[in-house]
Amino acid sequence: MNTLQIYDYFDAHTHFQPDYSSRIFAIQSFRAGIQVPDAPFYSIGIHPYDAQNPNCHNIDPATLAHDNPRVVAIGEIGLDFRFTESVPMQIQLFKNQLLTAQLYSLPVVIHCVKATEQTLAILQQADCRDFMFHGFNGSINNAKKVLSAGGFLSFGANLLTNTNLQEVFRQVAQSDITKILLESDEVEGVIPQLYDRGAELISATQQSFMLQIKQNFTTFYNL
Ligand SMILES: [Zn+2]
Repeated sequence: MNTLQIYDYFDAHTHFQPDYSSRIFAIQSFRAGIQVPDAPFYSIGIHPYDAQNPNCHNIDPATLAHDNPRVVAIGEIGLDFRFTESVPMQIQLFKNQLLTAQLYSLPVVIHCVKATEQTLAILQQADCRDFMFHGFNGSINNAKKVLSAGGFLSFGANLLTNTNLQEVFRQVAQSDITKILLESDEVEGVIPQLYDRGAELISATQQSFMLQIKQNFTTFYNL
Protein backbone atom coordinates (compact mmCIF):
# COMPACT_ATOMS: atom_id res chain seq x y z
CA MET A 1 0.00 0.00 0.00
CA ASN A 2 1.62 3.23 -1.19
CA THR A 3 0.11 5.40 1.52
CA LEU A 4 2.28 3.58 4.06
CA GLN A 5 5.34 5.45 2.78
CA ILE A 6 4.58 8.45 4.97
CA TYR A 7 4.79 6.42 8.19
CA ASP A 8 7.89 5.66 10.26
CA TYR A 9 6.38 3.49 12.98
CA PHE A 10 4.12 0.46 12.68
CA ASP A 11 1.94 -0.62 15.56
CA ALA A 12 0.77 -4.18 14.95
CA HIS A 13 -1.98 -4.22 17.57
CA THR A 14 -3.70 -1.45 19.47
CA HIS A 15 -6.99 -0.88 21.24
CA PHE A 16 -6.74 2.90 20.80
CA GLN A 17 -8.06 4.82 17.84
CA PRO A 18 -5.07 5.39 15.56
CA ASP A 19 -4.08 8.93 14.59
CA TYR A 20 -3.22 8.50 10.92
CA SER A 21 -1.92 12.06 10.74
CA SER A 22 0.92 11.07 13.10
CA ARG A 23 4.06 9.12 12.13
CA ILE A 24 2.50 5.90 13.42
CA PHE A 25 0.43 3.52 11.32
CA ALA A 26 -1.57 1.22 13.59
CA ILE A 27 -4.04 -1.61 13.27
CA GLN A 28 -6.85 -1.24 15.77
CA SER A 29 -8.34 -4.41 17.22
CA PHE A 30 -12.08 -4.67 17.90
CA ARG A 31 -14.02 -7.15 19.99
CA ALA A 32 -16.87 -8.47 17.88
CA GLY A 33 -20.24 -8.13 19.57
CA ILE A 34 -18.81 -5.70 22.13
CA GLN A 35 -17.47 -2.86 19.98
CA VAL A 36 -18.55 -1.35 16.68
CA PRO A 37 -15.50 -1.02 14.44
CA ASP A 38 -14.88 2.42 12.93
CA ALA A 39 -11.21 2.41 11.85
CA PRO A 40 -9.98 2.47 8.23
CA PHE A 41 -8.08 -0.77 8.82
CA TYR A 42 -8.76 -3.11 11.65
CA SER A 43 -8.74 -6.60 13.01
CA ILE A 44 -11.87 -8.10 14.46
CA GLY A 45 -12.63 -11.25 16.33
CA ILE A 46 -14.50 -12.80 19.21
CA HIS A 47 -12.09 -12.52 22.13
CA PRO A 48 -11.76 -15.53 24.45
CA TYR A 49 -12.82 -13.14 27.26
CA ASP A 50 -16.22 -13.02 25.58
CA ALA A 51 -16.68 -16.75 25.08
CA GLN A 52 -19.63 -16.81 27.44
CA ASN A 53 -21.09 -13.44 26.59
CA PRO A 54 -24.54 -13.93 25.03
CA ASN A 55 -23.89 -11.05 22.59
CA CYS A 56 -20.92 -12.92 21.16
CA HIS A 57 -22.30 -16.37 21.46
CA ASN A 58 -24.60 -16.04 18.48
CA ILE A 59 -22.27 -14.29 16.04
CA ASP A 60 -21.52 -16.22 12.88
CA PRO A 61 -17.72 -15.68 12.58
CA ALA A 62 -17.97 -15.73 8.78
CA THR A 63 -19.87 -12.43 8.91
CA LEU A 64 -16.93 -10.69 10.57
CA ALA A 65 -14.94 -10.39 7.38
CA HIS A 66 -17.60 -10.79 4.75
CA ASP A 67 -16.86 -8.52 1.79
CA ASN A 68 -15.18 -5.95 3.97
CA PRO A 69 -11.78 -4.73 2.72
CA ARG A 70 -11.20 -2.77 5.93
CA VAL A 71 -10.75 -6.05 7.82
CA VAL A 72 -7.04 -6.88 7.56
CA ALA A 73 -6.95 -9.68 10.14
CA ILE A 74 -9.08 -11.87 12.35
CA GLY A 75 -8.31 -11.28 16.02
CA GLU A 76 -7.65 -11.13 18.66
CA ILE A 77 -8.83 -14.69 19.04
CA GLY A 78 -7.37 -17.64 20.89
CA LEU A 79 -7.26 -19.27 24.29
CA ASP A 80 -7.00 -17.90 27.80
CA PHE A 81 -6.74 -20.74 30.31
CA ARG A 82 -7.11 -18.42 33.29
CA PHE A 83 -10.85 -18.70 32.57
CA THR A 84 -11.24 -22.45 32.98
CA GLU A 85 -15.05 -22.55 32.93
CA SER A 86 -15.25 -21.19 29.38
CA VAL A 87 -12.47 -23.32 27.84
CA PRO A 88 -14.73 -25.61 25.77
CA MET A 89 -16.51 -22.57 24.31
CA GLN A 90 -13.18 -20.78 23.73
CA ILE A 91 -11.87 -23.76 21.76
CA GLN A 92 -15.00 -23.89 19.61
CA LEU A 93 -14.92 -20.16 18.90
CA PHE A 94 -11.23 -20.27 18.12
CA LYS A 95 -11.63 -23.11 15.62
CA ASN A 96 -14.64 -21.49 13.94
CA GLN A 97 -12.79 -18.21 13.53
CA LEU A 98 -9.75 -19.91 12.05
CA LEU A 99 -12.07 -21.24 9.35
CA THR A 100 -13.20 -17.67 8.70
CA ALA A 101 -9.59 -16.48 8.45
CA GLN A 102 -8.91 -19.25 5.99
CA LEU A 103 -12.02 -18.49 3.97
CA TYR A 104 -10.98 -14.86 3.52
CA SER A 105 -7.19 -15.50 3.43
CA LEU A 106 -6.64 -13.26 6.45
CA PRO A 107 -3.86 -13.43 9.01
CA VAL A 108 -4.76 -14.12 12.64
CA VAL A 109 -3.93 -12.14 15.78
CA ILE A 110 -3.64 -14.60 18.65
CA HIS A 111 -4.38 -13.96 22.31
CA CYS A 112 -2.78 -16.79 24.26
CA VAL A 113 -2.49 -17.03 28.04
CA LYS A 114 -1.24 -20.23 29.69
CA ALA A 115 -2.22 -22.23 26.60
CA THR A 116 0.72 -22.25 24.19
CA GLU A 117 0.68 -25.97 23.40
CA GLN A 118 -3.07 -26.14 22.87
CA THR A 119 -3.12 -22.95 20.78
CA LEU A 120 -0.35 -24.18 18.51
CA ALA A 121 -1.99 -27.60 18.17
CA ILE A 122 -5.26 -26.02 17.03
CA LEU A 123 -3.43 -23.72 14.60
CA GLN A 124 -1.63 -26.72 13.17
CA GLN A 125 -4.84 -28.75 12.83
CA ALA A 126 -6.37 -25.81 10.98
CA ASP A 127 -3.27 -25.58 8.79
CA CYS A 128 -2.93 -21.91 9.78
CA ARG A 129 0.55 -20.44 9.33
CA ASP A 130 -0.34 -16.73 9.04
CA PHE A 131 -0.56 -15.75 12.66
CA MET A 132 1.08 -13.68 15.35
CA PHE A 133 1.14 -14.16 19.09
CA HIS A 134 0.29 -10.68 20.28
CA GLY A 135 1.69 -9.24 23.52
CA PHE A 136 4.25 -12.02 23.65
CA ASN A 137 5.55 -12.35 27.17
CA GLY A 138 6.71 -15.95 27.34
CA SER A 139 9.86 -18.02 27.52
CA ILE A 140 12.42 -18.56 24.78
CA ASN A 141 11.14 -22.15 24.45
CA ASN A 142 7.64 -20.95 23.72
CA ALA A 143 8.97 -18.29 21.37
CA LYS A 144 10.81 -20.96 19.40
CA LYS A 145 7.69 -23.11 19.20
CA VAL A 146 5.76 -20.19 17.73
CA LEU A 147 8.55 -19.45 15.25
CA SER A 148 8.85 -23.03 14.11
CA ALA A 149 5.08 -23.12 13.51
CA GLY A 150 5.60 -20.15 11.17
CA GLY A 151 4.18 -17.49 13.51
CA PHE A 152 5.20 -13.92 14.29
CA LEU A 153 5.86 -12.62 17.80
CA SER A 154 4.57 -9.18 18.70
CA PHE A 155 6.20 -7.41 21.65
CA GLY A 156 4.54 -4.70 23.72
CA ALA A 157 5.29 -2.46 26.69
CA ASN A 158 6.70 -5.29 28.83
CA LEU A 159 9.75 -5.21 26.60
CA LEU A 160 10.71 -1.87 28.15
CA THR A 161 11.11 -3.23 31.67
CA ASN A 162 11.14 -7.04 31.72
CA THR A 163 14.75 -8.19 31.45
CA ASN A 164 13.79 -11.84 30.79
CA LEU A 165 11.64 -10.75 27.88
CA GLN A 166 14.46 -8.55 26.62
CA GLU A 167 16.68 -11.63 26.47
CA VAL A 168 13.95 -13.57 24.63
CA PHE A 169 13.66 -10.66 22.19
CA ARG A 170 17.42 -10.75 21.54
CA GLN A 171 17.38 -14.47 20.85
CA VAL A 172 14.32 -14.25 18.62
CA ALA A 173 15.95 -11.44 16.62
CA GLN A 174 19.06 -13.56 16.25
CA SER A 175 17.08 -16.58 15.12
CA ASP A 176 14.66 -14.78 12.75
CA ILE A 177 14.33 -10.99 12.84
CA THR A 178 11.67 -11.09 10.09
CA LYS A 179 9.15 -12.48 12.60
CA ILE A 180 9.22 -9.59 15.10
CA LEU A 181 6.40 -7.07 15.44
CA LEU A 182 5.83 -4.26 17.94
CA GLU A 183 2.54 -3.18 19.49
CA SER A 184 1.03 -0.70 21.91
CA ASP A 185 -1.97 -2.91 22.83
CA GLU A 186 -3.41 -1.09 25.85
CA VAL A 187 -0.48 1.21 26.64
CA GLU A 188 -0.91 4.44 24.77
CA GLY A 189 2.08 6.25 23.24
CA VAL A 190 4.60 3.47 23.82
CA ILE A 191 5.56 2.74 20.19
CA PRO A 192 8.51 5.15 19.71
CA GLN A 193 10.03 3.90 22.98
CA LEU A 194 9.62 0.28 21.85
CA TYR A 195 11.50 1.07 18.64
CA ASP A 196 14.31 2.70 20.61
CA ARG A 197 14.59 -0.19 23.04
CA GLY A 198 14.29 -2.86 20.35
CA ALA A 199 17.08 -1.38 18.24
CA GLU A 200 19.25 -0.92 21.32
CA LEU A 201 18.73 -4.52 22.49
CA ILE A 202 20.06 -5.96 19.25
CA SER A 203 22.60 -3.20 18.56
CA ALA A 204 20.89 -2.25 15.31
CA THR A 205 20.76 1.24 13.89
CA GLN A 206 17.43 2.95 14.39
CA GLN A 207 17.02 3.23 10.63
CA SER A 208 17.65 -0.41 9.79
CA PHE A 209 15.43 -1.55 12.66
CA MET A 210 12.60 0.71 11.48
CA LEU A 211 12.83 -0.68 7.96
CA GLN A 212 12.85 -4.23 9.25
CA ILE A 213 9.75 -3.74 11.42
CA LYS A 214 7.95 -2.05 8.54
CA GLN A 215 8.76 -4.96 6.27
CA ASN A 216 7.61 -7.48 8.89
CA PHE A 217 4.39 -5.54 9.43
CA THR A 218 3.51 -5.23 5.73
CA THR A 219 4.30 -8.91 5.21
CA PHE A 220 2.10 -10.00 8.10
CA TYR A 221 -0.87 -7.80 7.16
CA ASN A 222 -0.45 -8.13 3.38
CA LEU A 223 -0.45 -4.35 3.03
ZN1 LIG B 1 -5.03 -6.57 22.79
